[in-house]
Amino acid sequence: MATTRALTFERVAKLPTWFGIGGGADRVAKPASVEDLVACLESDPGLKVLGDGANLLVDDDGVSELVVVLDQPAFRSVERDGNRMLVGAGVKLPKLINDTVRDGLSGLEGLGGVPATIGGAAIMNAGGAYGQFADAVAAIHAIDRQGRVLRLAREQVPFSYRHSGLSDVIVTAVELNLKPADPVRLREFHLEVMARKKASQPLSSNSAGCVFKNPTLIRPIEGIADADVRVSAGMLIDRAGCKGMRVGGAEVSHSHANFITTDRDAMAGHVIDLMDQVRARVFDTFGVSLEPEIAIWKRKP
Ligand SMILES: Cc1cc2nc3c(=O)[nH]c(=O)nc-3n(C[C@H](O)[C@H](O)[C@H](O)COP(=O)(O)OP(=O)(O)OC[C@H]3O[C@@H](n4cnc5c(N)ncnc54)[C@H](O)[C@@H]3O)c2cc1C
Repeated sequence: MATTRALTFERVAKLPTWFGIGGGADRVAKPASVEDLVACLESDPGLKVLGDGANLLVDDDGVSELVVVLDQPAFRSVERDGNRMLVGAGVKLPKLINDTVRDGLSGLEGLGGVPATIGGAAIMNAGGAYGQFADAVAAIHAIDRQGRVLRLAREQVPFSYRHSGLSDVIVTAVELNLKPADPVRLREFHLEVMARKKASQPLSSNSAGCVFKNPTLIRPIEGIADADVRVSAGMLIDRAGCKGMRVGGAEVSHSHANFITTDRDAMAGHVIDLMDQVRARVFDTFGVSLEPEIAIWKRKP
């Protein structure tokens, strides 16, 4: 691995996340190039990447690993060649959706209202009722923990529900394959998706979106679904009577049971305790183990 220049590290008392709570990082770097990113890996091969912080809970003690933020121009470029695009990992998904809808390119509009960077959307395979990020991906550009630059074709990436299988690489850019479409229709659909999200989710409160993944039932549950069917975690949480449950400043949302919202007094520990209580209640009621969808960063002992 080659180091091109001395990197600057900054101590950050509180990492910015959509929960609006939690701790910071001892060292944060904003690499200006792929070479800088490789140098960051040389400094800490276990480094963490902060995207838009929309699916992330940082524990109150923060983290000791180096945290990198890909918000410099090298990671925010957008190149277009017909229906293909090469988009930097630090580009914000909502802005890219607006631009592609305006330009009559279809493939991302179903992800309206999902806050993310392109890197975060790729890692989490962000999605919902109207599609998933993987559907538009042609290839992923990434760096592995040894500093090797990779280009992974779509078929090489084991995308699945809210998962990319790319847990050990840093995404630097994504190649997208979009389809030409009528911009007016795209815009109407995009607005419809956003309106539905607004009507069903507590978007004015601090949260990280859905806290738990929708589970696939391993046995039938009467009145819910048959075995092997993926069911809504929010529905299970609601039917287990968890809406409105609180720990400190964290609350299970009344409008969408799979959202935990946080107020000004909330601590990350409140969210973690509340998640434990919700999991326990859903397990006691239905025998279903919920798995977190959000990433939780904790300081290593
Ligand atoms: C109001 C609200 C609504 C939401 N609705 C949806 C929804 O409908 N569907 C959905 O799927 N999600 C939803 N989410 C969750 C969130 O938008 C997605 O999970 C999104 O993909 C997170 O992207 P991010 O850039 O914020 O990632 P972050 O939260 O910053 O990071 C998430 C994880 O990805 C890793 N990561 C980020 N960037 C990179 C990179 N370049 N390389 C390697 N690893 C990286 C981080 O290290 C972390 O482990 C919602 C969240 C909120 C707050």
